[in-house]
Amino acid sequence: MASCLILTVNVVLLAVLVAGQDGVESENVFQTSGIGSCLDEKQRDGLIKGDIVYPGNSTYGVKRRTTSLLFSAWPVGIVYATSEEDIVEAVKCANEYRTRVTPRSGGHGNAGQAAMSGALTIDVSRMKNVSLAEDLSLVTVGSGSTAGNAV
Ligand SMILES: Cc1cc2nc3c(=O)[nH]c(=O)nc-3n(C[C@H](O)[C@H](O)[C@H](O)COP(=O)(O)OP(=O)(O)OC[C@H]3O[C@@H](n4cnc5c(N)ncnc54)[C@H](O)[C@@H]3O)c2cc1C
Repeated sequence: MASCLILTVNVVLLAVLVAGQDGVESENVFQTSGIGSCLDEKQRDGLIKGDIVYPGNSTYGVKRRTTSLLFSAWPVGIVYATSEEDIVEAVKCANEYRTRVTPRSGGHGNAGQAAMSGALTIDVSRMKNVSLAEDLSLVTVGSGSTAGNAV
């Protein structure tokens, strides 16, 4: 009976936490700063090929999250890098606008370090390339790889 009560209280607390975060979200969305125009220009010029999600985009609320519900952050944007070149160009914009960068692979880290409010998230989950050197001495594994595609 007691454990049932504790479980119920925990479920209610979790529901309040999640609802509270969503409530806060609408009040805390960061305005896209100058870095947005820098990234957009590079995307238009074909220098960044990956998608970019900004506060205000319909998917931002989902894409900004990591898997841990305990941590909630509002990055200025999320670049879905498809190559090293995408990362280099995104970092150049971040440097120009003195914006911190947070790499994110799976977003499964328990401490939620892959997201930071006010930072630019560079998500590498689409970089799943796995290659083997001809002499079999070296395997290069994209940071977005999971066991499913790497093994
Ligand atoms: C249900 C569950 C079970 C888990 N079980 C285990 C377990 O058994 N053993 C264990 O060790 N861990 C476990 N973890 C923790 C988690 O899986 C590990 O911390 C894992 O390494 C996270 O990988 P990620 O790619 O999701 O990292 P992310 O959360 O994306 O990032 C973690 C940190 O690494 C940085 N980072 C990410 N990608 C890069 C990159 N390409 N270059 C530089 N920095 C980068 C991020 O900025 C962040 O600081 C578990 C987590 C969950 C949710």
